[in-house]
Parts: sequence; structure tokens; C-alpha cells
Amino acid sequence: MTPRTRYDLSRVELDALPAFAGEPRYRVEQVWRGLYHELVAPDALTSLPRALRDRLRDDLPSALDPVTEQVSDRGDTVKSLWRLVDGNLVESVVMLYPERATVCISTQAGCAMGCAFCATGQAGFNRHLSTGEIVEQVVRATVHTRLLGRRLSNVVFMGMGEPLANYDRVWAAVERLHADLGLSARHLTLSTVGIVPGIERLAREALPVNLAVSLHAADDALRDELVPINRRYPLDVLFGACARYLEAKGRRLSFEWALIDGVNDRPIDAAQLATRCRSLPLAPHVNLIPLNPTPGWPTRGTPPAGVRLFRDELIARGVNATIRQNRGTDIDAACGQLAARPVSIAAAGRPGTGDQASPLPGGSA
Ligand code: SAH
Ligand code: SF4
Repeated sequence: MTPRTRYDLSRVELDALPAFAGEPRYRVEQVWRGLYHELVAPDALTSLPRALRDRLRDDLPSALDPVTEQVSDRGDTVKSLWRLVDGNLVESVVMLYPERATVCISTQAGCAMGCAFCATGQAGFNRHLSTGEIVEQVVRATVHTRLLGRRLSNVVFMGMGEPLANYDRVWAAVERLHADLGLSARHLTLSTVGIVPGIERLAREALPVNLAVSLHAADDALRDELVPINRRYPLDVLFGACARYLEAKGRRLSFEWALIDGVNDRPIDAAQLATRCRSLPLAPHVNLIPLNPTPGWPTRGTPPAGVRLFRDELIARGVNATIRQNRGTDIDAACGQLAARPVSIAAAGRPGTGDQASPLPGGSA
């Protein structure tokens, strides 16, 4: 069951709400502006008559109930844990950089892809998020950054879940973010484990969003082990889809590579990755991330010197590669660490951990 909440409705569906019966039509415009420009809950719009506000409170509930907020990197990384109306928990992370503010959002409660090294995968799949649940994470992040005097400019679909396994709702959210929240499609990035039919569909979309493919191995036997969906869409099939995507869009693709000590950081891994990159019609960009620790995976990330060595090996082979700065590892907010465990509430704010967790007062959107 995916619930219907205030950011699930299209403009046409809002217009058809029985709550507006007998009201002048400009009331719908007022509520839409409240949702997408002022970012205010409909029942808090004081320009509306009290009776209408009461009706809208019931018809347009919020999707996200704040549970905790944890802060890291001296306030520049903030992880929020949200309870959905059916009790499921998801997380989103706001990251402030000198030149931009980015939110990393979830698209599913859990994930069915079962990548061994990922905390979300280790916890299993609960359900898809609705378009409204996805959009409201961005709205909350926008409110958060506005309060800090900053403008939220970038959205990465790299939180919990596999975006292309929830294609229709995710794409509807992309269109809403672009058309109604005013975010540039070029600043939206979808990250996929390699769902080939989803990549094929993306290639046909008009909006120029960015695509990141989580590769982690350029050899089928190793990738089968790390990323089980590789058995369904092996590397030749995945690279075929990537090539068609590049031909259709003419936009650069990026590959994510989480470096695992002694597993995928060997010279042979760099050589295989370079060969694969050269097979594409447009040179991709490789993002290297040292594997972040998760409770259910004993292997550790490549130490910093090894990460630099791997990058240099790639560059020497003509591959465009950079090391991604890790954010929020101390609050389990970094790539692959989102698990939305209620235990994180109990653990948060332990003396001496440096974490700060505080139950938030009511909704801010
Ligand atoms: N399901 C999508 C998006 C969410 S995962 C995908 O897999 O792309 C976001 C990114 O975090 C992916 O690149 C994923 O491979 C990476 N990741 C998962 N677990 C990780 C870990 N323990 N350390 C570093 N990166 C990890
Ligand atoms: Fe799912 Fe992505 Fe984690 Fe794999 S890495 S389990 S696809 S969230």
C-alpha cells in the first residue's frame, strides 16, 4: 500500500479535490503555490478560510513525520530519519558544500537488490515510495537549507532503494522537481545498480537528468558476487544499454566504484574497468569511494593510499577518475550506510560519539 499524501497530487488532481467544492478557483492556485513556492502546509496557509484549511488538513496529509536528525561535518551534513504514514522508516541526507547544497533522497523503503556491502540491501525490501514521499524529502531539504540562507540546488537519488526499480513514481517525482519546485534537470542525478530496462527508458526521456551506474566490478564473476542483479543483466548487456543511452542523450555517464580492500582495487580491476570504459562511445567519469563500513559485511574499504593508487592507475590508462569525498560516516549517513534502523535513534546522541540527535518538533513543510 502506498499512501496518497500532499505531494502525490498533480495540479489536476488537486483541482478535483472535494475540499474545494463551492470555493473560488483561485483557492487551488493558492494551495499549489503554498506547496511548491512557499513550501507551507495547506492547513498553515493563513490566507485561506479556516473551514477550507480544516478540510485540507484531512485531505492533504504530510508524508514524512520527523523522527531524528543527526548532524556531522560541523553542521554541513545532516541525516534525517522519517516515519512514513504506514510506519516504514526512510532516511535523507542534506550536504552543504561551499558552492552547492545537495540532498540525497530515498526511493524505496529498503531495497530488493541485495548488494552484500550495502546496509540498505542487507535489511531487505519493504515497499516502493510514492511520488509524494519522494518529492516531500526534497521539499523538507529545501526548507532546511532556506533556513540556513542557502539554496538547495542538487538532488541525488542515492539514498535507500533502487530508483529504476520504482521507475514510474521516481520519474513523476523528477518531473515535479523540475517543473514545480524549479530545480534544473541537469542538477538531478539518478543512481542505478544497473537495471537495464530502466536505463533504456531513461534514454527516451526528454529531461536531461544525470545517470550514475554503480559498477564496482568490470568482471562478471566478481560482479555477480558483489551485485547479484549482474546475473540478470551481465556486463555486456549493461554496457550495451549504457552505449545506447550515450548515443541517445549525448550526456556523460558516471560509474560509481566502491573500493573494497583486496577485492576490486587490484591492478587487474583497473585494467578491466579501463577496457570497458574505452568500449563506450563517450568517455565516462569514474567516481571512486572507499567502501564505507556496514554491520553485515566484514570486508573493509581500501585505505587512502590504495584509493589514490587505483585512481592513478585509471588515469594512466586514460580514464577520467576522481575520488569522492566521504560525508557523514560517523553518523552512518555516507553511501551505503542508510538502513533506517530505529536502533539509530537509541544510539544517536550517545555521550562521546559526537552525534547530535534531537526529536524534531512538528513538520516544517
Ligand atoms: N540503488 C542505487 C542507489 C542507492 S545506493 C544504486 O545502487 O546505485 C547509492 C550508492 O552507494 C551506490 O553507488 C552504491 O553502490 C553505493 N554503496 C552501497 N553500499 C556502499 C558502501 N558500503 N560503501 C560505499 N558505497 C556504497
Ligand atoms: Fe539497493 Fe543500491 Fe544498496 Fe544495491 S547498493 S542494495 S541497489 S540501495
